Amino acid sequence: MKKIIIFIFAFYLLGNIFTYSRNYDVLRYDLFVDWSNILKSNKGELEKREWNAIMKITLVPTVDNLTSIELDAVKLKIDNIDINIVNMSVAVGPVDITIFDGKINIYMSFLDYVISPQDTIQLKIDYTYTNPYNKGFSYRNSSDHFPPDFIHDIDVPSAGTLNEPQNARCWLPCNDVPNDKALWSIAVNVPVGMKAVSNGSLDSSVVYNDNETFYWSSKHPLPPYLMTIAAADYELHTERMQINSTDTDSVDVYYYTFPGDWEGENGCSAERNLSPTQKAIQIFSDLFGNYPFEKYGYATVDYTYLGFRSLGMEHQTITTSNRYWVKDFVPVPGWTGFAHELGHHWFGNMVTCNKWTDIWFNEGGATWTEAIYLERIKGYIDTTAYFNFMRSRRESYIDYSKKESNFYIPVGKIYDPEFALFNHSILTYSKSSWIFHHLRILLGDEIFPLCKKLLEQYKFSNISVDEFADFFVDNVPNPPHNIDMKKFIEQFIIYGGHPQYAINSNIISENAPFIVNMNLTQTQKKTDNIIDDFLMYIKVDFIDAEDNLIKSEYIVNDKQEQDYTFILDEKPSKIIFDTTRALVEIIENNLIGIDEYADNVIKIFPNPLQKSEINIASDLDIDSIIIIDLYGNIILDNLQISKHFNNKYTLLLPNIEAGTYFLIINNKNIYKLIII
Ligand SMILES: [Zn+2]
Repeated sequence: MKKIIIFIFAFYLLGNIFTYSRNYDVLRYDLFVDWSNILKSNKGELEKREWNAIMKITLVPTVDNLTSIELDAVKLKIDNIDINIVNMSVAVGPVDITIFDGKINIYMSFLDYVISPQDTIQLKIDYTYTNPYNKGFSYRNSSDHFPPDFIHDIDVPSAGTLNEPQNARCWLPCNDVPNDKALWSIAVNVPVGMKAVSNGSLDSSVVYNDNETFYWSSKHPLPPYLMTIAAADYELHTERMQINSTDTDSVDVYYYTFPGDWEGENGCSAERNLSPTQKAIQIFSDLFGNYPFEKYGYATVDYTYLGFRSLGMEHQTITTSNRYWVKDFVPVPGWTGFAHELGHHWFGNMVTCNKWTDIWFNEGGATWTEAIYLERIKGYIDTTAYFNFMRSRRESYIDYSKKESNFYIPVGKIYDPEFALFNHSILTYSKSSWIFHHLRILLGDEIFPLCKKLLEQYKFSNISVDEFADFFVDNVPNPPHNIDMKKFIEQFIIYGGHPQYAINSNIISENAPFIVNMNLTQTQKKTDNIIDDFLMYIKVDFIDAEDNLIKSEYIVNDKQEQDYTFILDEKPSKIIFDTTRALVEIIENNLIGIDEYADNVIKIFPNPLQKSEINIASDLDIDSIIIIDLYGNIILDNLQISKHFNNKYTLLLPNIEAGTYFLIINNKNIYKLIII
């Protein structure tokens, strides 16, 4: 063995969020952190926020002839690294270590020995957390202040961590990617009187002098971003809960809260606000399979120091909640934040995104479980609550797309973490939740056993968009309308935007049965990000003049332009695309004023237009015409109209770009589609 001492502050470039595969697989992390000194400090000087740790990493090579190991570690003072090959007495050859750009590279050379995937390597890294401004680790003491709307401040220090997506490396050396899951043991030394909580089970705690070390270990693997430690003078309450509604399986739930917050002092009421936990675990277990971990719990923290006043995080088996959550939230309906973190224990923790590009699976799934929670928490199926929630997510997304860019250039694609991830959370959360919602609309409640099967199939591992889509292709052999499941799923992940429709329709019969022709045009502007032929499954409602529903039908739209015919017993005055069920946007819907609209009232010819003259025949007196494009922009107005006998008109058009337009006649809602 060779010992080395290194003290280098590496310059860390934030931004490389793309995951790449390394030449090893971590089996386990054994971490010891000593927070005893900082948690005794009542001074609060930033430079005192320094602590020591030892990280042991056990890994196996995934390549032959492994000669170097790269780990993520940002601005950590590396005091020593030992390398050991388990069960081998191999002489370690020259070892070199470089620390640069947030990475440690350990170069190994073992005389006369080639390291292969059969070997197990252990690294023991002694390090010091020295940079008080590093991300991931949050510390506060009594000289820091909670914002004034808390009645009482907390007068002892506390600490917590927040790793997602790539901040674990800022306080521990690791392979900081979501798809290298490992078992963890985590030992935390704190002053006597405090409690340290982490992932998995508490195996023991040992008091030595005026400190106590808490030993935690996880039965199930987790990636670095899902591990956490929180320490404070917590009060602990526990409850044993039945996991599902049909059998007696149970799980212990642990509540770590600041003194007084449980009972309702300090303006908080953790007991009240966390009370839906039992019911929520049962709802999700019934639908998605039993809660899969050894415990569940909550640790209240103050993330103000990290700049997140009101954040929760689905750390595996121990959801971290900002203290505001137990202050402000009321059980129903404000509990959706807690439901979200619990839902992650199926979508995100039990099965994890393969790369950060697949964050839609974690956050879309967890956001969708918020709607499921609202649908079922009252003890009956409240579909209105479900649809209202999904609709609100849709509106956030559509509103954002209008604000973020030009109205008609929807925001970027989910599958682009440089763009999306947590910077454009409206994609990561709201739009992603609609991927699950669309599947439910297409497949009905069969979505639940399918999700349960998928989660079981990928249990404790990772999933990519391909694997997710392929699962539904394989498991839904006869989808409604023979829809292409792969495209149906991937189009909203790999591409940006959503379909924007111009609907042109008319009634070609004046008496029952009423035959309605409808032309759908997807008008979204095609870009590298956005396709021009979304595959949509849309519920179409026909409404009469008194606003009553005449008929609903589901249609499949898979072409940029497509015609449909409907036969109705009653005369419709409106067509409504049900946007609680499909993420579409209606740019023009021109089934308005049926009598005025019938083709025998206004005829335009030739259409498509061959030359710059439009001929119009109409029973109406036409005195004004404007031309708009499919996006509602006025292209031409104050047009000169020449009236001839027999209500014939001609209109001379200046040169305008070829495309599809509407004529609006007499400033009324009389639209005629023309193609120029
Ligand atoms: Zn989440």
